Amino acid sequence: MLHCPVRIMFGDKALPRSGAYLQQLGTRALIVCGKTSGILSGALEELEQNLEKLGIIYHTYAQISENPGLEEIMAGKELCLAQACNILIGVGGGSPLDAAKAISLAAANDLAITELYDLSKFRKAYPIVAIPTTSGTGSEATQYSVLTNYATKTKAGFGHALAFPALAILDPRYTLSLPHKVTLNTALDALSHLLEGIYSNQREPLVFPLIYKGIGLIKENLPKALDNPADLQARSALMQASLYGGMVIAQSSTTLQHSIGYPLTTEYGVEHGLANAMVMESIMELYYPLVKDELEEMFKAIGSTRAGFLKWLEELPFTRHVALSDEFIERAIFQIMGSRNMALNPRKIDAEEIRSILTKLKG
Ligand code: NAP
Ligand code: ZN
Repeated sequence: MLHCPVRIMFGDKALPRSGAYLQQLGTRALIVCGKTSGILSGALEELEQNLEKLGIIYHTYAQISENPGLEEIMAGKELCLAQACNILIGVGGGSPLDAAKAISLAAANDLAITELYDLSKFRKAYPIVAIPTTSGTGSEATQYSVLTNYATKTKAGFGHALAFPALAILDPRYTLSLPHKVTLNTALDALSHLLEGIYSNQREPLVFPLIYKGIGLIKENLPKALDNPADLQARSALMQASLYGGMVIAQSSTTLQHSIGYPLTTEYGVEHGLANAMVMESIMELYYPLVKDELEEMFKAIGSTRAGFLKWLEELPFTRHVALSDEFIERAIFQIMGSRNMALNPRKIDAEEIRSILTKLKG
């Protein structure tokens, strides 16, 4: 079944064009953003101007870090309640968007820090608006929020229908300020989501056209955006692909490719998209026999072949190696085997297969 309950406004002036609907959602907004991206992207200033025009009162919580921690969510919850906010607006990459979702649920249900993943306590949510400034996570179109427990060094997501944004506002201009590295890493995250839509045992053929289109857009436009960061057409194509990736994983969820990336992020600080990309080729090799027809169909749809796609991936300028310790690998295998996404793999994956993929990263 396809479920996408998000109103999506895409393109130039998406924010002012969303005014009428924004106004219906609430009267007091908590804007949730990172320390710099809201300003660098220009999204925060435009949002504030539009909220003022609409007569929506706002407070800003600009403290969200990459891979938001549970404590940041609790601080946001307190601010939301103290200011009597009734709408959450996430502005930024996946980190602030996911934080806005978690704060909405924490505040509406008065959750304790130990209850942030307890779906049985999720009874309501304040409406969530998502304004992405990266093209990667697709969080604006998903019901997921990925949080990090820094005490246990574990990263995990929850998924709940109440966490779907009511409104997603996508203006590619907000991504013109992305540095080279973030442009690359986030596009690789979007690519992971699109591929996982094929791998997942909950794959939804209705969204296969989005998968093909999204992968094609990344293949064609990522090199352009890397070469010329001011190329608005390429930025727009990447934002569209990222949105499609979100719409896809909202149906099929993610798989081993994401589970394996989380410990690389929490223990070695590897950025989310890069962590997925490092294992992308190994995972495609592992799954190819299981989804051969679907992958071949995708390669054909993007005018390529398996060899052509892998060559393109190989030529992208990202590192494939990280000096993992043997002790980490054993601990990570345990964590990965227990993660939520492992139930979505196209077949059961064993510890030895994960060990082999992680060991390859040592170079
Ligand atoms: P991010 O962690 O939100 O941001 C990465 C970096 O890019 C930050 O330093 C950020 O600055 C900066 N940045 C963002 N937009 C910018 C802009 N327009 N110009 C200049 N700098 C900008 O990165 P992300 O890859 O988008 O999000 C990753 C998170 O999303 C992870 O926690 C991941 O697990 C999660 N995720 C969620 C879903 C989902 O469905 N919910 C799916 C995949 C991944 P600031 O620190 O100032 O913001
Ligand atoms: Zn991801």
